[in-house]
Amino acid sequence: MKKRAWPGGTAPLAPPIVQSSVFQFESLRHIRDVSEEEGEGHVYSRYGHPNAQYLEEAAAELEGAEACRAFSSGMAAMVCALLSLCRPGDHILAVGTLYGGTHLLLREQLQQMHIDTTFVPDPESAAAAVTAKTRVIVAETISNPRMDVLNFEPLAYLAERHDLFFLVDNTFASPCLCRPLEQGAHGVMHSATKYLNGHGDAMAGLLLGSRRWIEEVSRWAPQLGAVLDPFAAWLVHRSLATLSLRMQAHSANGRHAAEFLHGHLKVKQVYYPGLDNSRLADRYLPAGCSGMVGFVIDGDPEQVIAGFEHIVLAPSLADTATTVSHPASTSHKALTEEERMRAGVPWELLRLSVGIEEAEAIVADLGRGLDRI
Ligand code: PLP
Repeated sequence: MKKRAWPGGTAPLAPPIVQSSVFQFESLRHIRDVSEEEGEGHVYSRYGHPNAQYLEEAAAELEGAEACRAFSSGMAAMVCALLSLCRPGDHILAVGTLYGGTHLLLREQLQQMHIDTTFVPDPESAAAAVTAKTRVIVAETISNPRMDVLNFEPLAYLAERHDLFFLVDNTFASPCLCRPLEQGAHGVMHSATKYLNGHGDAMAGLLLGSRRWIEEVSRWAPQLGAVLDPFAAWLVHRSLATLSLRMQAHSANGRHAAEFLHGHLKVKQVYYPGLDNSRLADRYLPAGCSGMVGFVIDGDPEQVIAGFEHIVLAPSLADTATTVSHPASTSHKALTEEERMRAGVPWELLRLSVGIEEAEAIVADLGRGLDRI
């Protein structure tokens, strides 16, 4: 909690929501000073506003970043990150299975702008795909839906060797479980809609990194109009106060659910990094592996979902309540059948976002669903 000066005497404990599109000035000179960042304050909310600033300062501290910029969604942040780093003719290296929206952005919209992407399945095959035009490596700390933990080391080495920008989507881990900038990444992206907010009531995105890169990003953000609304910024900022406690609870419950599923007769496969003493999980996620669990069932996903009494079918993740989603028809719908199978997304795969309820209640509901097969 930061102490704040307040013009009306006593400052409110919770920061106010500054729901204003524009700010007042004493003179033309005053506008110029604030616009050129020689004076304190904001000019017009598309360029920045107090609630975004509170969130950006708190998030930068959590990620150990010099600076942060907030966006209206995770996708807005990703678009802005890549446009700030690439020009027509440049090349991007996408490593591992990426979120479907990011995959589509790289394969279609950026391709239309003559920015090509090579998709490689893992960090070990990345070196062979670097070309003279490669500018950026994009990867996710924990990739959806197989929950593979990223091996940062070979990518950090590759980025260093070829002077590439290493961008990591840290949505599934949150800075409480992993801080990519400490593992050789240059930039971090978050769908703050997920764990950072964690209550299913706001859309937001963040980019974090060096002050220089965030300044570059901040030249693009207002032009794209991808500004975060003050109320959404306020909600995410409020949620950061409980992030560490929530991530501990998500991780403990995630492990409990994964262990239950692992031993269940109707479950063919469980994807959870903490299950099989993974070397990468030990190294990069020492404090826990989040609440994200993938599992392939021996039956019809519709039947299992219909059997749940509390676990809600909702194609998002990271909220306080446990939810389930069906990647083949939602997050990975944009992939071709061949790409889906290569990414390990069969029709029978369900993805659980384990919440912070009582662990036994979650497991009992999982059992009820699986009994329907
Ligand atoms: N990255 C990951 C890993 C995601 O799961 C998502 C959304 O599900 C996004 C990015 C996009 O974020 P948003 O929906 O906030 O635009």
